[in-house]
Amino acid sequence: MKKPLSAAGIISYPARTVSQDENIGEVDRILKTYGHPGIRELLKIIFAVTRHMKASTYLVGGIVRDGLLNIQNYDIDIVVDGDGIKFGEKLAQRLGARLDIHEKFMTAVLILENGQHIDIATSRVEHYRKPAELPGVESGSIKQDLARRDFTINSLALSLTGKNFGEMLDFFGGREDLKNRKIRVLHKMSFIEDPTRIFRAVRFEKRLGFKMDKQTEAMARHAIDMEIVSKLTGARIRDELIYILNEDRPFNAIKRLYDLGALSKIGITQVISKEFVEDMRKAISSYSKLKPYQDRESVKWRLLLIMMLRDNNAAAIESWCLKMKIRRKDIAVITGSIKKMPEAGRELKKKIKEDSRLYDIVRRYSPELQVICHSRGGDHAKNIRRYFTKLVNIGLEISGEDLKELGYRPSPLFKEVLGEVLRQKIDGKISGREKELATAIKLISQLSKN
Ligand code: ATP
Repeated sequence: MKKPLSAAGIISYPARTVSQDENIGEVDRILKTYGHPGIRELLKIIFAVTRHMKASTYLVGGIVRDGLLNIQNYDIDIVVDGDGIKFGEKLAQRLGARLDIHEKFMTAVLILENGQHIDIATSRVEHYRKPAELPGVESGSIKQDLARRDFTINSLALSLTGKNFGEMLDFFGGREDLKNRKIRVLHKMSFIEDPTRIFRAVRFEKRLGFKMDKQTEAMARHAIDMEIVSKLTGARIRDELIYILNEDRPFNAIKRLYDLGALSKIGITQVISKEFVEDMRKAISSYSKLKPYQDRESVKWRLLLIMMLRDNNAAAIESWCLKMKIRRKDIAVITGSIKKMPEAGRELKKKIKEDSRLYDIVRRYSPELQVICHSRGGDHAKNIRRYFTKLVNIGLEISGEDLKELGYRPSPLFKEVLGEVLRQKIDGKISGREKELATAIKLISQLSKN
């Protein structure tokens, strides 16, 4: 059943369409999908606490959506029609878990011993002050809570209460849209109220293989053209971008954002051509291949951002990153990688005979730049592969401590000497602790004479 689009605040609710009998089968199927017996146990406890408190609780959001799609999802999101915080306290007591309370938002996060989180919210109505601002919260009913959600497929709720247990609340035709693989907003003002939903829509489209319905896409384009996306704070854009870049296959989502005109509105000017998508795809494939061998961890979102920003000058990249509230440490990796990219391209495109030289070159680059070089194929990839299969784990058996024990005073010379000893070891000229020490001593005396 399709829910007609209506303006914010005056949403009407069509009758529920699902019978109780149908629901019992449904809940069973969903619970089986979760697979994890621990989660089924948890839901039973939640059910018991709910009954004891005479509250109404619902499972909502991604776990319901994914359950119906047979996709595993262990993020438990609960809405309480009643006092969510009190419910959280009782549940925490029962489970012996920690509870973090956010009074202002009437929410709580329960943290189990195994690290799993359960998000608990009080059913609430949100009032948007100005477009693109974060909402204010007031308690309301489950219907209103679901009405403020982003898309129909995320507005389903599964009752965990008494005789209604297993009943699916579907006020906006979410199940129909799941069947038809559609991403549909709940009302016309949705993207204006919260433009992050444009990024979310694209993320779900590409992750689930869904498509925005015609009206929703038109509204997304309209909001983008109206410069609403540019009104978001840098931190919110950053978060959405990182969520997308960390997806399994983010390149299609990036292309889609580009085609919708959203990327340029957030200051990313890279043309996302077919070739660029292919480059990103290759980079992700290299990222997965190299990850187990890399001594320093490459970060997927940073890798893709480096690729998207690479044609800008250093000052523009830094100022964009600062605007997006990206941490200094990440900015340094992003700008450093882009700066060294041309050099890395030149150095690694030829065969490098000496292992120690290859080692010196590759070590200079961030893990992300190493991945990008590998993804270029040819000699670039061969060199990077040789580094990771043969050289990355070579280390010295001696350290500055050993030199100190021999009576040498620590100085920058130590680094130089140990570096040279390592080079000789990498090239197979020396091996074993004794040889390393002897070489170091010889080098110290040679170098201190100069
Ligand atoms: P994921 O699998 O990516 O975690 P999810 O649907 O669980 O997907 P969350 O970001 O954890 O996504 O959000 C949980 C629920 O909160 C969503 O299913 C949706 O109902 C609601 N929600 C999240 N963000 C928004 C938003 N910007 N506007 C409206 N509702 C939102």
